[in-house]
Amino acid sequence: MLSEFDLIKHYFVRPVPGRATLGIGDDCALLAPAPGMQTAISSDMLVEGRHFFAGEDAQRLGHKSLAVNLSDLAAMGARPVAFTLALALPGADRAWLEGFARGLFALADAHGCELIGGDTTKGPLNICITVLGEVAPGRALRRDAAQAGDEVWVSGTLGDARLALAGYRGEVALAPDAQAAAGTRMHTPTPRVALGLLLAERGLARAAIDVSDGLVGDLGHILERSGVGATLDADALPAGPVLAGQPRALRRAFTAAGGDDYELCFTAPAAARAAILEAAAACGTPVTRIGRIDAAPGLRWTDAHGAPLALELSSFDHFTQ
Ligand code: ADP
Ligand code: MG
Repeated sequence: MLSEFDLIKHYFVRPVPGRATLGIGDDCALLAPAPGMQTAISSDMLVEGRHFFAGEDAQRLGHKSLAVNLSDLAAMGARPVAFTLALALPGADRAWLEGFARGLFALADAHGCELIGGDTTKGPLNICITVLGEVAPGRALRRDAAQAGDEVWVSGTLGDARLALAGYRGEVALAPDAQAAAGTRMHTPTPRVALGLLLAERGLARAAIDVSDGLVGDLGHILERSGVGATLDADALPAGPVLAGQPRALRRAFTAAGGDDYELCFTAPAAARAAILEAAAACGTPVTRIGRIDAAPGLRWTDAHGAPLALELSSFDHFTQ
C-alpha cells in the first residue's frame, strides 16, 4: 500500500532540481524571482464528470491539466516558471499515477516549468494546478487594453474540440478516424506559449485572452473590459481540420462558440500586421485575422463579402444537431 508521502516522493519529486531554491518537501517552496520581472499567477481546476469524463486516460489528463494552466500564462504573454499541483485521488492507483505523471511532466519539461509543491488528499478525482510565470512590467497582455480600430486575431484553429464532444454525445455522426482526430484536440490541447511570449515581448498585441469557453464568450470579456465592440467575419474563423469538412452552419457555430480550444484571441493595431505574421511564422503557430474592434459596444457579424449577418449567439450555446 502506497502512503501519501511515498506517493509524492515516487511520482512527483524529480531527481534533478530545477530553478526553485527549495522545491517539494518543506512547508513551502522557495522561488527567487528574476530581477525586475512581475510574477503572473493563475489556477485552473479539473473536476471529474464536469471537465472530463470518468475513466479518462491518465496521461492525457496529466497533459491537459497543465496545458489549460499554461494557456492562461500564454494569454498573458508570461513565460512559465513553476507550478503547484493539488490532487484529490479516490485511491493510490500506480498505473494511473504513472500515466498522469508522464503526461504532466512531458509538457512541463517542454516548457521548462518546474513542479515545486502541492497537496495530496483522498477524495473524488480533482486536479488543481497553479502556475507561476514571469513577464516584464508593462508587457502583460491584459483584457482591458483593446482599442477601436485594432484588428482581431486568433491562433491555430477552432471548433474541433467541440466537434469531438458533439460526436461523443451522439449529436453528430463522425467516422472513427475523424472522431479520433477531433478528440486529440479535446484531450491534448496545445498551449500557445511561444506565440504569447513573442506578442508580449515584441509589443505587438494590445489585449489577449485564451479561448477556453468559446470565442464569442471569451472575446466578449475583452470587449467588456476594454469598453469596445467588434465586427467579426463569420467565414474567416479558422475551423479545425475535422470541422472544416462539416456543413457551414455547424462550422460557424462551433468555431464561434465551441470551447476547449485553448487558442489565443488577441487584438493589435493594423500597423502590426506584418510583424504579427512574422512572429507567428517564427514560432510555427498560424494566426488568422478575423475582424476588427469598434468603438460601438456589442458584437456584429459579417460574411466573407462584408455583408451583415444576423447570427443568433444564443443558438450557438444550445446548439444541438
Ligand atoms: P503540509 O502538511 O505542510 O501541507 P504536505 O505533507 O501536504 O505538507 O506535503 C509535503 C510536501 O509535498 C510539500 O512540500 C508539498 O508542497 C509537497 N506535495 C504534496 N502533494 C504534492 C503534489 N501532488 N505534487 C507536488 N508536491 C506535493
Ligand atoms: Mg498539505
